[in-house]
Formats: sequence, C-alpha cells, structure tokens
Amino acid sequence: MSLVVVDNLVRYYGDHRAVDGISFNLNAGDILGFLGPNGAGKSTTMQMLTGNLAPHEGEIRILGVDLLDYPKQAKTEIGYLPEQPPLYKENTVDEYLNYCAHLHRIEKGQVKNAVELAKDRCGLAGVGRRLIGNLSKGFQQRVGIAQAIIHSPKVIILDEPTVGLDPNQIREIRELILELGNEHGIILSTHILPEVQTLCTRVQIINQGKFVYEADMAELLNRSSTGFYEIDLLHPPSIDTLYKTADINKVEQIGKNSFLVHTTNTTAENIANAAIANNWGLIRLCPHQRTLEQIFIDLTLSDASSQHPVEDQTPSEATA
Ligand code: ADP
Repeated sequence: MSLVVVDNLVRYYGDHRAVDGISFNLNAGDILGFLGPNGAGKSTTMQMLTGNLAPHEGEIRILGVDLLDYPKQAKTEIGYLPEQPPLYKENTVDEYLNYCAHLHRIEKGQVKNAVELAKDRCGLAGVGRRLIGNLSKGFQQRVGIAQAIIHSPKVIILDEPTVGLDPNQIREIRELILELGNEHGIILSTHILPEVQTLCTRVQIINQGKFVYEADMAELLNRSSTGFYEIDLLHPPSIDTLYKTADINKVEQIGKNSFLVHTTNTTAENIANAAIANNWGLIRLCPHQRTLEQIFIDLTLSDASSQHPVEDQTPSEATA
C-alpha cells in the first residue's frame, strides 16, 4: 500500500488556482523531491498534505486514512518540518522535545524513550540540556527534524530543510535525511536542484500549480546522458575535423582541451579509435551525466518550443 495517495488536489487563493489538480503517490523507501520555482505551489501543497490547509478539491490519504475526514488519525503518521521550524529558543532541547511528544499524544510512559530515540537519530544525544537558542543553525535544524520524527511517523515532510545553513551543516542534514529515508517515506520540498539530485529517489517538478514532470531519478539521469560524451585531447584537431572524422553531431568546447560531444551515429569505442588513429592524444573519454539543473531548464525550454529536441537546447542559468 502507498504511504500517501494524493488525488487531484486543488487550492485557490481568491480566484487564483495556486494548486491546480495535483496527483501523486509516495511509497515506502521513496525520497520524493518536490521541485519548482518560487510561487509554483510547493508550500501550499505541503500545508495541505500536513493538514494545515484545507484543499478546495481532491483527496489525500495517509496509509489509507482520509486526511480530511479523519485528520487526527491520519496525522499520527505525518511528521512535518516547516520552512520556519517551530522552535522555542528559550527551551532546552529536552524540554522542547518533551513538549512535542505530548503534543503528538505519546503516552506518558513512552515519552522519555521517544525523546531519547529522536535525539539519538538526529545526533543530539549530547545537547539535551542546552538551550535551543544557543545551538548553531545546523543543530537547531536537527532539533526541528527530531520534533518531526518523535512520534515515529511513516511519512516525513520537509520544507526547504537546508536553507540558511552553511556547507558543512548542509552536508550533515543531507546525510541525516538519507538515513531517515531508510525507514520513512520522505517528501522533500526544495528549489535547490542539486539537493534533489543528491538525495531523492524520485522527482516531481511543479510549475504554476501543476506537475510538469515526474521521473525516477536514476532513470532520468541515465536516460538523459545517452549519446553525450566528455572527451579530453592533448592535441585536439579543429572542431570541423572532429565532426567529420569521428562522426559526431554536436561539439561544444568546454575547456582548453576538453569537449562535450553528442552523437547518435557512433559509439564511444569508435570515438576512441578515431582519436588514437589520428594522434589526438586521448586522455579521457567518458559518458556525460547531465545535471538535474540542465534537465529542468531543458524541459522548461522544450515545453515552450516543442519543435526543438531536448539535446539541442543550450543550458543557461538556473531559474529554479
Ligand atoms: P512556493 O512554495 O512554490 O513558492 P506557494 O505555494 O507559496 O509557492 O504559492 C503559490 C501561489 O499562491 C503563489 O502565486 C503565491 O503568490 C500564492 N499564495 C500563496 N499563499 C498565499 C496566500 N496566503 N494568499 C494569497 N496568495 C497566496
């Protein structure tokens, strides 16, 4: 059974259809990246999924339980880290997590265990007595995640969990999210494309309230690298010669001796043979993995102009 089933979700603000018929499933083991530019409808959808905002149309089921009809029951399986974590900075970590455990109606006799377990899982074991306000932002974010998992929900929803953290803190929080992904289904809302690429098993791109793309991450990266190679040559020929000799459709010079080539007519082996036969000084030849950022931009561009195949688009600056 899917952990979350969302069917045709719609939400208006006045006349504006901010979320416009969204449907998806979250399965056990999924870390689902919910990706889109600012204003796309991510937060509105998150708020509906966590029972904080009522949809105007559609259905949300959490482990088979209708969130609108049985909110209390459905919410026992949801943990939520909003973009602004609801931390009481004058509390110690222990005080705060105890309070959250009570809010989640954890039985009195179980509270201590639940707090210790959540702290353990979030790397907070040594800081229970520290005031939250005195912790670094990275540790405060760990506390935010600990409150989201304290009642051992099956589903965790994280809204922009690494915004405002420094690179080391980002790495630590990402490692924590990956670990949590072993035991929970996770929905991760973000506008940071590399974050989705690093963490997620699936990606859904939302734009103007609608899903414009959904894919399995591994499949997406594999499929999008077909026919693209990076090649480094010590004595590169002219680009014209490269085209003709190696039967290549497209060449882009990406460094003094480095090229990104695309071919539909030949194989990596043939390119290597041509480089050796012509003494180009082959140093490196490998498949080119396109980043999600490039794919996102390509998809948006190819939406606007469907005559151009994805491969012919020129990557430009990220818009998300
Ligand atoms: P995202 O999280 O992807 O940035 P939001 O869900 O916050 O997008 O917003 C989606 C759209 O709904 C935007 O056009 C935004 O301006 C609008 N919107 C969001 N919240 C409100 C609100 N409380 N009142 C009116 N419009 C809103």
